[in-house]
Amino acid sequence: MLTRRDFLRLAPAPFLLRPALALAAEGFERIDSHFHIHRDAPAVFDSLKASGWSGLDLCVCPVAGDEPFDLEAKLDATSKGSRASGGRVAWASTIDARGFESKDFTDRAIARVLRTFDDGAIGVKIWKNIGMSIRGKAGAYLLPDDPALLPIYEAIQKAGRTLVAHLAEPDGAWLPLDEKNPEFPYYSKNPQWHMLGKGTPPKEDILKARDRILATFPKLRVVGCHLGSDEDHLDRLAHRLDTFPNFAVDTAARTRYFARGDRGAVIAFLTKYQDRILYATDYSLRQTDPAAGARALLADHDRDIAFYAGEAEMDYEGRPTRGLGLPDAILRKLFRENARRWLPGIGV
Ligand SMILES: [Zn+2]
Repeated sequence: MLTRRDFLRLAPAPFLLRPALALAAEGFERIDSHFHIHRDAPAVFDSLKASGWSGLDLCVCPVAGDEPFDLEAKLDATSKGSRASGGRVAWASTIDARGFESKDFTDRAIARVLRTFDDGAIGVKIWKNIGMSIRGKAGAYLLPDDPALLPIYEAIQKAGRTLVAHLAEPDGAWLPLDEKNPEFPYYSKNPQWHMLGKGTPPKEDILKARDRILATFPKLRVVGCHLGSDEDHLDRLAHRLDTFPNFAVDTAARTRYFARGDRGAVIAFLTKYQDRILYATDYSLRQTDPAAGARALLADHDRDIAFYAGEAEMDYEGRPTRGLGLPDAILRKLFRENARRWLPGIGV
């Protein structure tokens, strides 16, 4: 993996580094719009500060059945971490959508969401268990535009916060689980999210339910995680971005799709939709030693700067590729300005 020093040393000619260096030289602060820290991690916060990054810590409630999950503890730890970071790490809360059929579900969920706004949350994340694993009493899968959820989105819109939506998965979740599956490494380790033959809603039904939220609440800003789960179909994503002006996407854990895609088509896509794409990693600190975690996150950031800003041949997660060499004006949007607009409150 490229470190910052390697990046500077390996670049064969100064002009290849021009955009990244120009941005760094003027103290350009970059933003990672999607990662997972969930605690006070001074080593990570110090490293972000030293390297000129800030970001967004996104909560999820990753359960579907009756298993216990202490959402309050997660929200509390995340907001405390955000405060300890001095605002460098903003945070977004989430909802526990289980029990969506109970009478007071919506009111309780809204009350909790509003409480997290008082506690500094700049948005609310909904997760793929909506559409793929939470079911009602009669067995039907909960879809993201269920009537029980709509008033929650309305409350988020009214509060001027952002809905961050990781709904559905890459196509690989619905393809046979073999070595040809581009997501084999993930689904072989996380078979509960491999949907083929399980009777869950088709991917397009989940995304269409999300699209109905976009149409129903045109003033609600929605950031679709992971290229809005259209990472395999930039043409479909382009159509959705054209149709819904309130929709943007993050690149979390999906820069690798750009790295292995058709370089010219990827540059054209990023150029055309330069106001609608937020750079992100999906980095997760988990139980890692924070100092090691800080180094890993910095290495991810440096690798991705080299990919988007540089033009050199490079390795991206084990595959050879070439940097996109995007111009400064687009890099500024991708690495900062779009996040500031779509996620007000993020960044220093
Ligand atoms: Zn994530």
